[in-house]
Amino acid sequence: MKGLYIHIPFCVKKCEYCDFVSFSGMDARHDAYIDMLIREMEAYRGENIDTVFIGGGTPTALSSKRLTRLLAAVRKIFPIARETEFTVEVNPGTATEDKISALLSGGVDRVSVGVQSFNDAELKAIGRIHDARTAYTTVIRLKAAGFNNISIDLMASLPYQTIESFNATLDTALSLPITHISVYSLIIEDGTPIQKKYQSGIYKMPDEDTDRQLYRLTGELLSSRGFNRYEISNYARAGFESRHNLKYWNCDEYIGVGLAAHSYINGVRYYNTSDMTDYLSGKYRAGEEILSDTDKRGEFMILGLRKIEGISEAVFGRRFGMDIESVYGDIILKYANLGVLEKADGFVRLTERGLDVANTVMSEFV
Ligand code: SF4
Repeated sequence: MKGLYIHIPFCVKKCEYCDFVSFSGMDARHDAYIDMLIREMEAYRGENIDTVFIGGGTPTALSSKRLTRLLAAVRKIFPIARETEFTVEVNPGTATEDKISALLSGGVDRVSVGVQSFNDAELKAIGRIHDARTAYTTVIRLKAAGFNNISIDLMASLPYQTIESFNATLDTALSLPITHISVYSLIIEDGTPIQKKYQSGIYKMPDEDTDRQLYRLTGELLSSRGFNRYEISNYARAGFESRHNLKYWNCDEYIGVGLAAHSYINGVRYYNTSDMTDYLSGKYRAGEEILSDTDKRGEFMILGLRKIEGISEAVFGRRFGMDIESVYGDIILKYANLGVLEKADGFVRLTERGLDVANTVMSEFV
């Protein structure tokens, strides 16, 4: 079974930190874009999928009528079983009642709400289109409408953020009827408006120590309130881990449709164009890469180490027909001696200390 990712590259307004492939002011192209998505999905008719994730961009920047059309097309092209995890990202600034109804009647059973913070000054600094109250009430309205699987995204290391304000955001999050929380640190990407504000000193980056402190605080608070960390940045109540995202971390197959989407099928990674004009004219495929066995093993290690449970030696053996020790024994030993990797219960995983230096460890497996 594969996952299906659908990219909606439209937003009401670009956030200050965003370097995703998404555009504002393109409403006139929404219909043509959905036409093209449907055409692209038709090429995969017959595939069995058990997770769907519509992300962006802002899927809820589409009108309720367009959302209904898109969701109906997905269900028509792919056999969607009742157990399929069907997620749509929701921006609180666009979550009108008619769109929430369209998601529910279109078979969506999981929503991922881009909250980022429950502090208005922080939200304003990063250019979000909603305030904290709207984010809060959006989650309440989604629950009241019938969604029982609600994830929220939060961000750490924001301008103006303090340990106290971050703590308050986490407390507010925990008062909501949610099942899953993702917490990512703000990354200052080149060419984004927020980068200029940092460079000119208008905003200050929290130092690395504060960032690590926020990270630890998140882990401690969330786990004390029943959310298990199952991936470096993701926490879930038992049984509510994101099955779609686990496909990425397990290097399972997925189909990606839409602007700049990737697919991974049968050992080949396919890349879609990021050029809207090309995409709408049907030239969606921009390239492909056949992964060598070495590449596949390396990716399996890098992505698998993101999971807190780590990498199953048995799964590695079954997938690659080799013992993990025979391929990576030296690297595992080196980092185990440094106390950042451990091999236990049939798994290789980062230790608590290792999570702080995850990128360094992972780079060894490239
Ligand atoms: S809503 Fe998401 S995709 Fe859109 S501009 Fe903001 S961060 Fe980027």
